[in-house]
Amino acid sequence: MNDSILVIGGGIGGMTAAIEAAECGRQVYLVEREPWLGGRVARMNKYFPKLCPPYCGLEINFRRIRANPNIRFFTSSQVVSISGKPGDFVAVIKTDPRYVNQKCVACDDCVKVCPVSRPDRFNYGMSQTGAIYLPHQMAMPARHVIDMDVCEGSSCGECVKVCKYDAIELDMEDSETTVEAGSVVYATGWKPYDASKIANLGYGKIDNVISNVEMERLAAVNGPTSGGITRRDNGEPVRTVAFVQCAGSRDENHLPYCSSICCLASLKQARYVRDQYPDSEVYIFYIDLRAPGKYESFYNKVKADPNIHLVKGKVGRIDPGEGGAAIVTAEDILGGGKMRVSCDLVVLATGMEPTAKSCDVPMASVDGEGFIAQNNQSAPGVIPAGVAAGPFDVTTSIQSATGAALKAIQAAATR
Ligand SMILES: Cc1cc2nc3c(=O)[nH]c(=O)nc-3n(C[C@H](O)[C@H](O)[C@H](O)COP(=O)(O)OP(=O)(O)OC[C@H]3O[C@@H](n4cnc5c(N)ncnc54)[C@H](O)[C@@H]3O)c2cc1C
Repeated sequence: MNDSILVIGGGIGGMTAAIEAAECGRQVYLVEREPWLGGRVARMNKYFPKLCPPYCGLEINFRRIRANPNIRFFTSSQVVSISGKPGDFVAVIKTDPRYVNQKCVACDDCVKVCPVSRPDRFNYGMSQTGAIYLPHQMAMPARHVIDMDVCEGSSCGECVKVCKYDAIELDMEDSETTVEAGSVVYATGWKPYDASKIANLGYGKIDNVISNVEMERLAAVNGPTSGGITRRDNGEPVRTVAFVQCAGSRDENHLPYCSSICCLASLKQARYVRDQYPDSEVYIFYIDLRAPGKYESFYNKVKADPNIHLVKGKVGRIDPGEGGAAIVTAEDILGGGKMRVSCDLVVLATGMEPTAKSCDVPMASVDGEGFIAQNNQSAPGVIPAGVAAGPFDVTTSIQSATGAALKAIQAAATR
């Protein structure tokens, strides 16, 4: 019987499950498809409700991973097959070439000579990197990677010439590793709902309409504007900002469920704007504002700011206005009538769509919304954690992942 645990997805959920199981003495294989660990929270500016940077918590987890010989992690990797049964799974992990080996010290000399430019996916395309790039400043592992789709390869070779550490291998190939595990934890998380599918809200057509994940990057000091929340058309400061709640959520044409975090994310982002611009006006258009349990006092604190206007009413449309403004037309149910607000920036509070809806998840089954089914609907010994299981905040993702680690230990032991 094998009591090792395979964890798929290296966000906060997957890292938590891996660390908890490893600290109970289990061998853990942690597989992440990006070239770095941390998942979506690594791209957040601050966490609600305390408004602390996610990197405090992430760094503690990275340290626990580095210190624990029971965890073997694979980045740029995916599990391509799983067979077997609890206590006796066999999984094949495919690792894409990074083209940069472990000798890399992240000095950035290679970046300076790279002639290529590509959209930076970490910043949701709002900035550029070279073909060789460090995924982000706090990346774990802190090692560069090459995007071979755009790299000019050995016909250029500038990065190879300049690297003092002999770290770049343009001929690196992909590899496969077979591991045996007693149970499997899926922590594949979420992706932002594609706001361009919501035709009336102007995303992709009006420059100053952005999504909430983009707002996190705009506000982050390591983001595309070094933390400046500015208009997307001309880089000018913002004065009037609107948040559109339930953008595509609780809508059977888009995501039928509530993602549970979007109201809190907008309340948090309203604070980003107000802290940066004392004269700014913020409008939050909502159907219902949801701030359950411990979040109630955070909601009350944000609501107390007279420059943050909470408007109960659905946004009907967003149109381009004069000078690049975005004009929000919405109902005002409590005030009565219709509102039209000319904004420098509009943030669409789009929900979390489970990654498992659109990627291969061997041995797991997904429910109608794409979350990985719990309660024995997936194969025995296959357990979801974090947002793979449901639309959770970070605290609930961590609780879910800690529970998943225990279930994984039990499943491996009770074949
Ligand atoms: C705008 C916004 C702001 C938010 N702000 C907050 C906040 O302030 N506080 C808070 O508590 N919560 C916040 N949240 C919610 C928070 O982001 C989630 O709770 C958290 O990301 C869940 O972590 P996770 O590990 O489950 O998923 P993710 O963060 O999505 O991590 C999943 C990981 O799995 C990897 N992966 C996916 N598929 C595969 C595969 N097939 N193979 C290998 N790897 C794979 C992904 O690359 C990713 O690294 C916010 C959400 C949004 C939308």
